[in-house]
Amino acid sequence: SANELIHEVKLVVDRKLEEKNIDSTIDVPKDLMVLGDYNRIYQLVLNLYSNSIQYTPEDGHINWRCFLEDGYAKLQIKDTGIGISKQEQDRIFERFYRVNRDRSRQTGGTGLGLSIVKHIVEAHEGIIDIESEVGVGTTITVSIPQPH
Ligand code: ATP
Ligand code: MG
Repeated sequence: SANELIHEVKLVVDRKLEEKNIDSTIDVPKDLMVLGDYNRIYQLVLNLYSNSIQYTPEDGHINWRCFLEDGYAKLQIKDTGIGISKQEQDRIFERFYRVNRDRSRQTGGTGLGLSIVKHIVEAHEGIIDIESEVGVGTTITVSIPQPH
């Protein structure tokens, strides 16, 4: 189930959440099943979760939602992080692209996370959507078509 998968990933990132005192809630119905490749969706959730933690200042919030809508399972992560400007939203899915390279060099990472996420979404014939405002936060919604 989506609920169990997200809770499992949360265990993996728990120490980082604690270090930054980030409050992370999961609003996913217990019985909601998403049809997809478990290992790949696990990796997708881990990448998106890690980004939200990395780009959210201390004492922030991260919320997961998952719901069925219009024949899609929608996985949504919302953070109160630094946000992504409109110009950058078009580029962050490129391999090795990172916003602000100097800052990024200090925070580690390769800039591959979101290109992997995009690849996984496409392998499921899904859609990924970003809503973000600089200094306010980011919401990323992954929609995976479900058979009816
Ligand atoms: P890696 O994931 O390989 O460790 P990375 O996090 O820099 O490195 P991506 O996950 O591909 O690479 O993200 C690309 C860029 O998008 C990041 O460098 C960051 O600037 C921006 N970004 C991604 N997620 C968020 C977010 N939730 N809030 C703000 N900026 C983000
Ligand atoms: Mg990343």
